[in-house]
Amino acid sequence: MNIATNRLRPLTGAGRRLFIETYGCQMNAGDTEIVVSIMQREGYVYTERIDEADVILINTCSIRDNAEQRIWGRLSEMRRLRRERPGLIVGVIGCMAERLREQLTEGDRGVDVVAGPDAYRDLPRLVRSAEAGAKGVNVLLSQEETYAEIAPVRLDRNGVCAFVSIMRGCNNYCSYCVVPYTRGVERSRDPETIVAEVETLFANGYREVTLLGQNVNSYRFGEVDFPELLRRTASVSPQLRVRFATSHPKDMSDRLLETMASMPNICRAIHL
Ligand code: SF4
Repeated sequence: MNIATNRLRPLTGAGRRLFIETYGCQMNAGDTEIVVSIMQREGYVYTERIDEADVILINTCSIRDNAEQRIWGRLSEMRRLRRERPGLIVGVIGCMAERLREQLTEGDRGVDVVAGPDAYRDLPRLVRSAEAGAKGVNVLLSQEETYAEIAPVRLDRNGVCAFVSIMRGCNNYCSYCVVPYTRGVERSRDPETIVAEVETLFANGYREVTLLGQNVNSYRFGEVDFPELLRRTASVSPQLRVRFATSHPKDMSDRLLETMASMPNICRAIHL
């Protein structure tokens, strides 16, 4: 779609209010900020008050059974809300949407929209089809999606520390972990978009960024590997502190350690 067409297209949200509840890891918190950005572009207005929301999205976690049990409990409360407020749209997004899509859409679970972690660009369409009376479901995993050019809407309140997502998914298939199944294969984000996002954060007063990924130190985009990305990020300003999470021991190279040693604004902390 060209830019002119895009401008003429009516905004589907038309000022309707969007509330998002986020569970689980920091990746999910970062994804929520991307979802708000995508929905705002379509005319939805973010609200922190569930009682005034027209659309409620629950960004879910599947890391443990009790994380999922909490969400099922929350969905029962949503069914009550829907009875009180006809027209309210309830969506489940994130890892649980990916893992339990059939259960979430069967019978009267009170779920209108189900979107996996790689389907967030499709959310406006899914919500629209739910408003038209159909279920909106998209749980396709992608080998490319990194939401690279989408500027997250920062929902943190401190204005000093920010998380910047640099890669998604994981190829390691550790026996106990659901991530490769719910978030798909590993893919890295274009370093130029990462550095641009960090520069914007710094210009807006942020003084600490944490580069974020499921397996952050296996980052690679063309010739740029994780030590090089870390160097470019730390070079934005000596006044910017840089951290990263979460790293895998097998990807802990000497070059990474040397880069950390060579730049005092890279924090001496390794989260494994
Ligand atoms: S490396 Fe981490 S995210 Fe990947 S499968 Fe193992 S535990 Fe899960």
